[in-house]
Amino acid sequence: MIKRYIDKLFGRKAASGKDAKPVIYGPDKHGIRRDAISKCARRTCEDLQRAGHAAFVVGGAVRDHLLGHTPKDYDVATSATPEEVRSIFRRSRIIGRRFQIVHVLCGQDVVEVSTFRALLDGEAGTDEHGRVLSDNVFGTQAEDATRRDFTVNALFFDPVKEEVWDYHHGVKDINAKRLVMIGDAAQRYREDPVRMLRAARLAAKLGLTIDAKTEAPIHAHKHLIQNVPQSRLFEEILKLLLSGNAVACTKLLRKLELHHGLLPLLDDALEDKGTGPFALAALKATDDRLREDKSVSPAFLLAALLWGRVERELRKHEDAGQPSIPALHTAMHEALDAQRESLAIPRRFDATMKELWLLQPRFLQRGGQRPYRLLEHPRFRAAYDFFELRAQSGNAPMDIAQWWDRFQHANADEREEMMVEDEAGPKKKRRRRRGKRKEEGGPPEGGAPPQDDAS
Ligand code: ATP
Ligand code: MG
Repeated sequence: MIKRYIDKLFGRKAASGKDAKPVIYGPDKHGIRRDAISKCARRTCEDLQRAGHAAFVVGGAVRDHLLGHTPKDYDVATSATPEEVRSIFRRSRIIGRRFQIVHVLCGQDVVEVSTFRALLDGEAGTDEHGRVLSDNVFGTQAEDATRRDFTVNALFFDPVKEEVWDYHHGVKDINAKRLVMIGDAAQRYREDPVRMLRAARLAAKLGLTIDAKTEAPIHAHKHLIQNVPQSRLFEEILKLLLSGNAVACTKLLRKLELHHGLLPLLDDALEDKGTGPFALAALKATDDRLREDKSVSPAFLLAALLWGRVERELRKHEDAGQPSIPALHTAMHEALDAQRESLAIPRRFDATMKELWLLQPRFLQRGGQRPYRLLEHPRFRAAYDFFELRAQSGNAPMDIAQWWDRFQHANADEREEMMVEDEAGPKKKRRRRRGKRKEEGGPPEGGAPPQDDAS
């Protein structure tokens, strides 16, 4: 009763101090059983506790278990220093320089173990926009909870006692399906603007509503995203696109007006009548594949999201009289350069994206040796998926996509029958050299090397 009154009086600040006490939920008060936790995380906590340290599963994994989701990975927070952790686990390594964490390995599994971190002292360690530059001091468990972003991300689970430790009303917010920033949201966004993107991603992915006080400062602080190092920003966008809820995440980003300058898609491509439906279809296909536990290629998705810009540039250069192939090359480089000005896609994705784009016009060529050569191209499968998705979204001729579907599965004779000499003109059948092809058992080898020509 008295505790509730104090909580009310001090609101959410009640558990923010260095030595603040958490609300502890026993095994009968929550649904997490120790068996549900990954063996590696469980054993790591058990061994650390046996050595006399506090050790809990923390963050996203606890949140996901309480929401009935399967966690992607497990993090452990402990009172042990990195060196102490390292000395307990034979298969472990310390990583990071600024703030060291320890990777503990069990078989194929890895658990990330971090020492409780301290809260920042005032303005120390921030840049002129309030962004945190250094936060490498060890602290108490209560401080560690308070420096996390959202209340639902600040929960600790003790797999030995099967207890949930809650410093910031995270359990209540999980039950209310609410995403609430710990502390003053505006200040927390200034410390780390990526938290705005995390709010959008986590809310969309977990079906949570962003609390009004957490959402309100986003509008006034969204410009700070441009101060975040490109590599970190790209990583966060990739997480968002590969979250399994990319469509919902993108919609929420746009609603919060956080999309500007991140990817053309998020700026305007979704509204482009020609390529918008294709971009959306690519996002949806990625979500579907992840739901079915299939692999997804980031380069494929990024190529799809940039396709609208490539096509626009291509049309411009063709209209100005440039032949198709040089025009496509120019368009690709322009699209990538323009993208680098807002959010640089790492160059390791360039080769695959360019290949997917360059192969697109070749699906229009269905005569002579060209379809055979395309079929043998190492990137045929991905390029065909790209073309088919375009066709399904009204961005490429559906009859041609269907033709390729048949052609891939046809036998040598049927393929011969299917030849289409000239896309523009009437369909002509190739004169067959009776019997000869059959003996060869398929398309002849050799010939000109694969071309990137679209003429
Ligand atoms: P996901 O399901 O995507 O892994 P997550 O919340 O676990 O979501 P991680 O990036 O794995 O995200 O971070 C692990 C934990 O670290 C978070 O739950 C949160 O407690 C804390 N954290 C991560 N990023 C931040 C941040 N920018 N500011 C404060 N705390 C953060
Ligand atoms: Mg995580």
